[in-house]
Amino acid sequence: MSKFTDLGLNEALIRAIEDMGFETPSDIQQEAIPVLLEKETDLVALAQTGTGKTAAFGFPLIQKINEQSRTTQGLILSPTRELCLQITQELKNYSKYIKGLNVVAIYGGASITEQAREIKKGAQIVVATPGRMQDMVNRNLVDITKIEYCILDEADEMLNMGFYEDITSILSHTPQEKNTWLFSATMPREVARIAKEFMYDPAEITVGSKNSGSENVQHEFYMVFGRDRYLALKRLADANPDIFSVIFCRTKRDTQSVAEKLIEDGYNAAALHGDLSQNQRDLVMKSFRNKQIQMLVATDVAARGIDVDDVTHVINYQLPDEVETYTHRSGRTGRAGKSGISMVIITKSEIRKIKAIEKIIKRRFEEKSIPSGMEICEIQMYHLANKVKETKINHEIDKYLPAIEDVLKDLDKEELIKKMFSVEFTRFYNYYKDTKDLKATGQPVANNNPADIPNDGDVRYFINVGERDGYDWRSLKDFLKETLDLGRDDVFKVDVKESFSFFNTDAAHAETILGFFTDFKVDGRFVNVEISNKTGGGGGRERRGGFKKRDNNRNQQRGPRSGKKPQNDGNRNFKGRRRNR
Ligand code: ADP
Ligand code: MG
Repeated sequence: MSKFTDLGLNEALIRAIEDMGFETPSDIQQEAIPVLLEKETDLVALAQTGTGKTAAFGFPLIQKINEQSRTTQGLILSPTRELCLQITQELKNYSKYIKGLNVVAIYGGASITEQAREIKKGAQIVVATPGRMQDMVNRNLVDITKIEYCILDEADEMLNMGFYEDITSILSHTPQEKNTWLFSATMPREVARIAKEFMYDPAEITVGSKNSGSENVQHEFYMVFGRDRYLALKRLADANPDIFSVIFCRTKRDTQSVAEKLIEDGYNAAALHGDLSQNQRDLVMKSFRNKQIQMLVATDVAARGIDVDDVTHVINYQLPDEVETYTHRSGRTGRAGKSGISMVIITKSEIRKIKAIEKIIKRRFEEKSIPSGMEICEIQMYHLANKVKETKINHEIDKYLPAIEDVLKDLDKEELIKKMFSVEFTRFYNYYKDTKDLKATGQPVANNNPADIPNDGDVRYFINVGERDGYDWRSLKDFLKETLDLGRDDVFKVDVKESFSFFNTDAAHAETILGFFTDFKVDGRFVNVEISNKTGGGGGRERRGGFKKRDNNRNQQRGPRSGKKPQNDGNRNFKGRRRNR
């Protein structure tokens, strides 16, 4: 383990570090500080919150600043007023032994003239929120044309809050030769875009991924259309009759609803998430340990403490937002020297996340197909045959045997086996005989000609829900994100009109999205999504928001494990979802 004194920091900083009581540098500090001190380089650094990023850029920045000059040399952009003040305070602590170094905070909701006055007194480092910064630049209240270092702190959060335009505009006022250091907990698309547009050959540091996972775990992914996720999950379970698994969902609501559907479909399943009382959670865990529950559907937070040794499968029903979380998930299996399988159900657009995970776990995923209905029937048959063979005879049945033998007396052994197995087989066979393969390739998109789907740039869509359905841009964005299982920055430029709306995604998602909405209902009505001819953001073309009539011929029924009547699962009811808003 290295020490602060080994990183190349000067005396004044070392003394301040001692005063603050920091003993050893955190991982990100250890990696970033020497690089930033030694080189004039751009940097992309990814690390979770609470890992000490402020000092990772703050120490080198302070050391590199010339406090003798009153010119503004360093600019730190940060998403909120609170963070802005916090960073400013931290930097003041770090630089307490450096005479003449001034750090000034600039943020909205406080007097702009007062902040301008502070700047005027000479601030070598300015810590700002993008909105207020933009404002002050426009009014010539701050000069950032000579900065040498620009830090984008919590870049993902800033972009998530919609500061992309402000940031790009602010950066356009800064000199080309500066170094840009980008710090972020995650690397969504828009952050990558900033890095690509505004940075030159950045050094890259990622921490928090030391844990490369158990050697005993095999990693597999299954690519399906978003709408087939649940059906895929059932098939994975049916193809593994002895499954003892933890299934991860991204939200509490998904966790609850997937568990409910599984139970309804006849599986031994239960939900584990933070909305349950401690007592309920204890009961669920007890049943899981006793194997009364085969499929435990859990959120990441709730599953953190699961220490059950013989979990055979981890199923990522959805990938986590942070790729690092995958390590924790897959670590629930392959424990205590046993082998395990970690399965991921993904849509086409998520393939890049798989690549990112592979880098972190330093292992390869195997791409597999969701088993076909007939494969599952076969597996179930062999499983049953083995089970029959292994089953210990229960002599409690002896007294009923004469009567049973009487009923079956006309059957020879061969017939008896055929009939016994047909009892089981027919159930699975009837469920699976007319089902399609669940593969996210080569399937026609009903509503849009596949040839018309752009394959690069942004795509703008028309969707026939709007304000009268209870949506505003925020709730529609949430709905799309959750329904389509997209990341928080994947849906943008959401523009809600009275009876319809528009939104954008990267072209990579277009096929999935159009495929998903071929037969998707909300409150019994078809939701129709089409590529809009309009490319831009605001405004909306006049258009009737009527629902298209369409044959709904999908034949997806309840699970074979339940004796219930088939029900079309394209017909989802999302009433409850919106009522909470
Ligand atoms: P991040 O920006 O990564 O979320 P911060 O920079 O805000 O994290 O640091 C989180 C907390 O950890 C702060 O209170 C900070 O003072 C403290 N801290 C940072 N580096 C160290 C260290 N090397 N040793 C002890 N505490 C540290
Ligand atoms: Mg921070």
